[in-house]
Amino acid sequence: MKIASVRTILTAPAGIPLVVVKVETSEPGLYGLGCGTFTQRATAVRTAVDDYLAPLLAGRDPGRIEDTWHTCMHNAYWRNGPVLNNALSGVDMALWDIKGKRAGMPVYELLGGKCREAAAVYRHADGRDPEEVTDRARAFQEEGYTHIRCQLGGYGGIGRSPRRPDNALPGAYFDPDVYAQTVPAMFEHVRNALGFDVHLLHDVHERLQPIEAVRFAKALEPYRLFFLEDLLAPEDIEWFRHIRAHAAVPIAMGELFNNPVEWKPLIANQLIDFIRVHISQIGGISPARKLAALCEAFGVRTAWHGPGDVAPVGHAANLHLDLACQNFGIQEFAGFNDALREVFPGCPEVRNGYLYPNANPGLGIDIDEALAARYPVEPKAIEWTQTRLPDGTPVRP
Ligand code: MG
Repeated sequence: MKIASVRTILTAPAGIPLVVVKVETSEPGLYGLGCGTFTQRATAVRTAVDDYLAPLLAGRDPGRIEDTWHTCMHNAYWRNGPVLNNALSGVDMALWDIKGKRAGMPVYELLGGKCREAAAVYRHADGRDPEEVTDRARAFQEEGYTHIRCQLGGYGGIGRSPRRPDNALPGAYFDPDVYAQTVPAMFEHVRNALGFDVHLLHDVHERLQPIEAVRFAKALEPYRLFFLEDLLAPEDIEWFRHIRAHAAVPIAMGELFNNPVEWKPLIANQLIDFIRVHISQIGGISPARKLAALCEAFGVRTAWHGPGDVAPVGHAANLHLDLACQNFGIQEFAGFNDALREVFPGCPEVRNGYLYPNANPGLGIDIDEALAARYPVEPKAIEWTQTRLPDGTPVRP
């Protein structure tokens, strides 16, 4: 058997550009699907796959996943960027999908079999004030969810409008001082209303200066968070030892990581509690299963990134790893709308706060290409990442 073709399918059934890679084999009807979604630069991934990986891989053995991964990672010589890692992930997941279909087994069986029947997921409760956050969290509790991420006004907090200088440039303004003061007050409100029988999480989205992040973690200690996410930017990871020294708050990190040198010191020095990478951003299932094993040795659990800018194929890959890895912690889950479920038959299903796969071989998910074409991807300038401080300074989003 040989790889016959490799190509991308771009689609946006929920309004978010998704990149899916389809690897077809010389055996009629046998193909695999993978997620290579870098939503902000979707067509760049398409070019990397269609123009470079497709000719490289044509005629190779689809069963040699590990060999193929290393060949693709190093073929461009320059490596470990988000475009190329996502392109590689699409191929990698598709090859695992093909291997599962050939074996007649779901991918979690190939990874060692189930450690659990389903993956506990968390949902995202966002509100304009603490009352609204509490109401949304309570609604998720009523649907059966036990883990809820509470955000006040999205990722920037909420409060007075920043006082801008004359002629300040347009952008997504936020005030880190207001954020750092209002979020602990929000958790005070939510805990008073809901008690301590629910797991609460929070995402800082790396919006604080490092020393403010230390103070923020200490301020949240009384609210017993399940985890505090992306408290620091990847550029500031040396500061995690200060966080550890000052606050007993579980730390989740890694959404933006794409190179093993970023996570190795945090895991080996036990400075984080959850690894939270975006699996397509690190290159697929092959590097993720090794990362999970590294984490297991150091007492770190998994919490793979699972927002709307992961294709259902990628959510399935997250879930197969969740079921097979002993050190699974929690799975982020954004839900699927009807259009996503129609374009991607076989989507995992959530019941009572747990995400379940189907029993199909491989990743268990397909794509209706004719339907996918009805939701075209149109590249445009991204607004929300044009983040600015009150004085107009451009900063990381
Ligand atoms: Mg995040």
